Amino acid sequence: MKHLWKRFFLFAHSIRFRLVMWFTLILALVLFVFSALIYLRQLKDIRGETSFRLEQKLEDVLRYTQLINGQIMLPNGLLAANDVLVLLDADGNILASTGNVPAGQVVGLLSQNRNLPTDPDHDVSQPIIFGEISNYGHYALILRSARDLFGKSYTAVLGTPFDTYGLVGRLTLTLLFGNLLTLAIAIAGGFWLADRAMRPVHAITHTARTISETDLSRRINSHSKDELGELASTFDAMLARLETAFQRQRQFVADASHELRTPLTIVNLETSRALAAKRTPQEYQRAVRVIQSENELMTNLVNDLLTLARMDSGQTALEKTEVDLGDIALEAIERLENLAARRHVRLEAGELSEAPLQGNRQLLLQLVSNLIENGIKYTSGEDKFVRVEIETGGETARLRVTDNGRGIPAEHLPHLFDRFYRADQARARDESDDAPGGTGLGLSIVQSIVQAHGGEIHVTSIEQSGTTFEVIFRLQ
Ligand code: ADP
Repeated sequence: MKHLWKRFFLFAHSIRFRLVMWFTLILALVLFVFSALIYLRQLKDIRGETSFRLEQKLEDVLRYTQLINGQIMLPNGLLAANDVLVLLDADGNILASTGNVPAGQVVGLLSQNRNLPTDPDHDVSQPIIFGEISNYGHYALILRSARDLFGKSYTAVLGTPFDTYGLVGRLTLTLLFGNLLTLAIAIAGGFWLADRAMRPVHAITHTARTISETDLSRRINSHSKDELGELASTFDAMLARLETAFQRQRQFVADASHELRTPLTIVNLETSRALAAKRTPQEYQRAVRVIQSENELMTNLVNDLLTLARMDSGQTALEKTEVDLGDIALEAIERLENLAARRHVRLEAGELSEAPLQGNRQLLLQLVSNLIENGIKYTSGEDKFVRVEIETGGETARLRVTDNGRGIPAEHLPHLFDRFYRADQARARDESDDAPGGTGLGLSIVQSIVQAHGGEIHVTSIEQSGTTFEVIFRLQ
């Protein structure tokens, strides 16, 4: 029983049910208005026709009526079987009557609609009265003042059954059954249609139910071109985005663990080796230096990961103030001058126009520093330089960091901003470099910062010739 109730409750709340109910309600309303119009029109026509007939007949009746000794004398055939004629005097008393309907009832109906007695001296060609005479049905009554042979006034009331052929009754029945049948067909058809229309929704629901976060590869694959097809493809597109995001997340965690494992293994090896036997102070010093360098690498990695995590959760994007990108670029150059000198790279400040924008100073400093640091890291040899310049024009500021280093092979360019991506894996732990080893996260952080500031970043590079990173920001 409870199960049945639940099913009914669910059904009553389904779109299918509500759709059909609304549809039926509106249709019923339309049918009602339409039927009422037809009914009223028909009623008016029949009344018109009856009135016309009654007036004609009254004229004939008045022409031939003779009132002799309280008896109405009329030619045969002038009055139909159900017609009634009542003559009233000035006080409303019945003078005479003829026909099947009792004169009293006719006067009763008359007095409900107008004041009796009527004034026989005046023409009483007033509107025809329609009404019910019990046991005899609907009647139409017409009144007219007249005079008998002796010049005495009286009022003639002629009545005839209204709607002799029962047209109104039949029309009412036809409209009622016709409407009920139409509504029944509409409800059945409505359910059938709604059922068909809702089928793709069931398919989407079913697929959505079978998808778990570990199996995001399923798709609805609807080929229909209607609104539900559009919904299905939107859902598919969302699944595809989710799948990529989950995959990237998994890859990120795997890469991060992998990156941390190498320095941890080295630290472990170094300490084991140092503790295995008695070593000279020089050997201990070397081991500690290795551990320190690996520690520095891990610190950098963890800091980078933390920055990325913060950027992802949108925490840092909030604190923006008015800053000058030119100032920030100068500060970054000053900070990295020493590193450039050690690597024998010329760090040049090109034209650094004033570029006011809404931004986070700390993050923008990290952005410029990362780009300069990369320029220095991947540039070595004779007559090498890294140049920083800012050009403002219109509503934008362009920050360019150019080097004439070894460049990046074209096949790596599309992946450069991916997390943990390195164009040259072997260089990551190049012992000969005195710059700290790269984590492969520098450019990802740069891109996140650019995005948090609503900017764009582009890279152009020619192998063995140099690289240019260009960041475009919208000025305040
Ligand atoms: P990393 O920590 O390895 O520097 P990044 O994300 O900063 O990581 O850079 C990714 C890769 O892009 C680098 O490993 C390097 O191969 C390449 N790269 C970045 N900047 C330059 C540059 N100025 N010149 C040549 N290669 C570069």
